[in-house]
Amino acid sequence: MELVFLGTGAGNGVPVFYCGCPVCEEAQGDARLRRTRSAVAVVGDATYLIDAPPELSVQLMREGICRIDGLFLTHAHHDHCAGLGDLEIYARYHLKAKLPAVMTKETLEELEKSHGSLKDWLQVTLVAPGVTLKYPGIEFTALPASHAPGTLGYLINTAGVSTAYLPDNGPLTPWCAARLRGVDNLVLDATFHGENWYPQQHLAVHEAIRIGRELAVKRLYLTHMSMHYSEPVTSAALEQEIAAYDSVHLAYDGLRLGIGG
Ligand SMILES: [Zn+2]
Ligand SMILES: [Zn+2]
Repeated sequence: MELVFLGTGAGNGVPVFYCGCPVCEEAQGDARLRRTRSAVAVVGDATYLIDAPPELSVQLMREGICRIDGLFLTHAHHDHCAGLGDLEIYARYHLKAKLPAVMTKETLEELEKSHGSLKDWLQVTLVAPGVTLKYPGIEFTALPASHAPGTLGYLINTAGVSTAYLPDNGPLTPWCAARLRGVDNLVLDATFHGENWYPQQHLAVHEAIRIGRELAVKRLYLTHMSMHYSEPVTSAALEQEIAAYDSVHLAYDGLRLGIGG
């Protein structure tokens, strides 16, 4: 099975239409450095999607993914859910069946304010943090994330490989930290660089690296990177900064990780 990074940007994405900073300029000049909004797909015998960002349709076509068997949502913010309309059309007119979807009660309630009744086209399973859902060859455990109310990350376990995906998350709860100690792959929020504007809801690059080291994870992948805010940082500069750490990597759009199974 593979974890496919559909997008690795924060709420703004890189580049943004209103900005001419060095980060946006770098990404305008090199398509590989563009960061669409964050989501991943788990691709094996079945394909599971975690989040539905605004660029979802383009991301899926870029990666050659033409079937989705289940959707997992982390939370209801625009950068993670604005692509739901594409999935509604897929479910209603292509599948002609409800698409299985996993989320918290808080996420469902928030989304129904903007999207109407999701249960008309999603087969919703509500989960609370700590719940594990089992599918053939793979398990997903809902992880509590310190972000908006009801936000989750997911721990994905296949035969022999553990991978945690927490794109929007501030300080880890003790339960979460215990659960993630020593995982093979930790994919973690690194929204900010330098100053962290929202330390209870997000992490900065140096904080994500510290957590990865404290938890002794085998490989840390930084994602949900804004590259903007107080201190824009180019991908080239960031690569240089993390080069000192063997086990730390920048995720990028299109990255594929083997996750066992
Ligand atoms: Zn986000
Ligand atoms: Zn910019």
